[in-house]
Amino acid sequence: MNERDSEGVGALLRSKGYVLVADEAEADIILINTCSIRGLAEEKAIGKADHLLRARREGKGAKFVGILGCMAQNRGAELLERLPDLDLIVGTQRLRHIPDYLSQRLAAPTPVAYVDTAHEEGFEDALPGRDDGRQVSAYVSIQQGCDMKCAYCVVPKTRGPERSRSPESILAEVRALAENGTREVTLLGQIVNQYGRGRFRTEGGISPFVRLLRSVAEVPGIERIRYTACHPIGYRPDLVAAHAEIPQLCAQVHLPFQSGSDKILRAMGRPYLAERIRRLAAALRASRKGMTLSTDVIVGFPGETDADFALTEAMFSEIGFEQAFLFKYSMRPGTPAEPLGDTVPVDVKEARLFRLQQQLAMQSTTGNLRQVGTVQRVLVDGPNRKGGRLAGRTENERRVIFDGDLSLVGQFVDVDIARAGETYLDGKLARTKSI
Ligand code: SF4
Repeated sequence: MNERDSEGVGALLRSKGYVLVADEAEADIILINTCSIRGLAEEKAIGKADHLLRARREGKGAKFVGILGCMAQNRGAELLERLPDLDLIVGTQRLRHIPDYLSQRLAAPTPVAYVDTAHEEGFEDALPGRDDGRQVSAYVSIQQGCDMKCAYCVVPKTRGPERSRSPESILAEVRALAENGTREVTLLGQIVNQYGRGRFRTEGGISPFVRLLRSVAEVPGIERIRYTACHPIGYRPDLVAAHAEIPQLCAQVHLPFQSGSDKILRAMGRPYLAERIRRLAAALRASRKGMTLSTDVIVGFPGETDADFALTEAMFSEIGFEQAFLFKYSMRPGTPAEPLGDTVPVDVKEARLFRLQQQLAMQSTTGNLRQVGTVQRVLVDGPNRKGGRLAGRTENERRVIFDGDLSLVGQFVDVDIARAGETYLDGKLARTKSI
């Protein structure tokens, strides 16, 4: 979501004549789009801004420094206690006003920061645009905010209540992207598989989200559809069935289970039992050949015992997730879990995290090794970071590196997989077609 917001702000500023520079050292204006999901993310952003502002006091670097996004929304003017020289603090719903604030501030410099964390009605339908250049793969925001109350999560505070865009406005954006060469879209929302809740009705057992997926799949040129972030309660039978019915939907699904202990799930405010995750995983796997699953897990939530963690570890390996975001619990001020404190010692959290990381490495490597000898259809992203080769992704989000000409960037190619590691597949352009 932040990447999409940053892209929108960048496009907006370029439309007003600002120029994006490749090197931060050349920038006159630096806007840091921030995340609040963990304490570490906030501290990193504050450290970065502090470094830039110190340099400015010495007459070096950027002349204008601002903080945007979730931390701006979460902490607002309180940030000035840590960063008194900041120029701009703009929350998640007011990003489209940044050019106005910049021009006012640049025209009449004042020592007082602009702080805007207001709620803006209807902003989900008025997001900043995007650049005109061709994007093979694009993010499309379809929903903002979240009405769930997961005890550890700051998102309802930083992104506000759930609001879904209209299908017409989403489809117009997808059609424009497809006409410009986009082949893959990722539909974004904080709880994306509950899209439309409270605004559009489920009809004949088909949810607004599944109706939207069907419509997006009908847009000529769109060959892959992904969606994130999800909640297990949003995987109802119609969505599971959609993976069998809509060929453009990728055979990769995010099923964030967070904990394998029902006691901890209840304390987290997650309205499902571990058994439901097992059933969902089986149903999703059965819906589509080659389906892979990813997840999120938090270790060290207050009250998590060794026995609770053992249940998490068992579920993680039993379901065989191949990708995962694994976190140590980080207490966030203002969340429902704040009064519970942070009771699990850091070394215990680290040991639990390490065990899951080891397990993940094994599961990812095993999954990747199974692809050796197959032909994979790959959407080519661009040059590989090192070594003059190309990189792309399979529909399961596996990264593939291979030799090829830059003219292939943005195209689908078939790659014969010859080798695999924990995070990649390695192959060569195939003579046979993928299936
Ligand atoms: S559903 Fe996701 S975004 Fe919403 S409160 Fe829970 S973890 Fe946060």
